[in-house]
Amino acid sequence: MKVALNDIPAEGKELSFSDSAAEPQDLGPQVEAVTLAPSAEMKLERSGDLVTAKGTYAAELVLSCSRCLGPVPLRLEGELDWAFRPLGQEEREEVQLAEDELELSFYEDGEVDLTQALRDEIGLALPMAPLCREDCSGLCPVCGKPVKPGDPCCRRDEVDPRWAKLAQLKK
Ligand SMILES: [Zn+2]
Ligand SMILES: [Zn+2]
Repeated sequence: MKVALNDIPAEGKELSFSDSAAEPQDLGPQVEAVTLAPSAEMKLERSGDLVTAKGTYAAELVLSCSRCLGPVPLRLEGELDWAFRPLGQEEREEVQLAEDELELSFYEDGEVDLTQALRDEIGLALPMAPLCREDCSGLCPVCGKPVKPGDPCCRRDEVDPRWAKLAQLKK
């Protein structure tokens, strides 16, 4: 979704869109699947050539666990607060924008790319190292299968003090 600067009236413009073309790799390297396309609702306003957007977004994704590579379903919802200015005007507006403390993006050719802004927003909201569960034990170093919590898998026969103790208790 791209919006031309000239299509934003003085009173602002409300719009919503859905990014049904988003592929997992457009959103982040840890994304396996997109189960609900990213969507956003916002109000666009312009002041001179500065464009701002405020609203909300949502998406449903499946990430891959950083330890066992298993699926990690994730629903994302949040507020967006964007600011766009034309490329090449950094110096002129630097002071003013520093005061505004807005997330800042750029636009080219008089068009603001909202789809890209939404993909960037989601990319930043994703956990760097998703886990299928807090105590995910990862993959077995011997057979490569996911290890169930509390199960040593192929390391069953290795002498691990914790398991030795447990074995004693069982006797
Ligand atoms: Zn896992
Ligand atoms: Zn194993």
